[in-house]
Amino acid sequence: MSDLTDLYQEILLEHNSKPRNYRKLDDATNSAEGFNPLCGDQYTLYLKLDGDIIQDIGFQGTGCAISKASASMLTQQIKGMTVEQAESLFNEVHKMLTESGAEVDSDLLDELETLSGVSAYPTRIKCAILVWHTLLAALEGKQEVVATE
Ligand code: ZN
Repeated sequence: MSDLTDLYQEILLEHNSKPRNYRKLDDATNSAEGFNPLCGDQYTLYLKLDGDIIQDIGFQGTGCAISKASASMLTQQIKGMTVEQAESLFNEVHKMLTESGAEVDSDLLDELETLSGVSAYPTRIKCAILVWHTLLAALEGKQEVVATE
């Protein structure tokens, strides 16, 4: 189990040092801002929707390693999905982080499963889940800032 923890740690740190899709989309159709006051994590998510397909996605902002790695993995896995698939992935991530011992779909979660250890630390759950709530807000076209409080 500790080998797995080491591997998870490595993947998280790698995403943190080289975040994927870390850019603003000038032609974004949807965007939303998320803020976690407990930790100071603050990100803006940009989406380019073509009908029902998330054609492109990017994010910018600052925060702790967990929030940034979660954002990086989100953009990596959501790109090319339909809105419905993205919502399913949100539900799976939410379940993994908030229901300890829940059975999760490892194939669907892929690298996101590296965030599962966070579920033991309530304050860090907010770091990991922030960008996911921000994603939903962007998809729903909400204008207000998403806060974890
Ligand atoms: Zn944080």
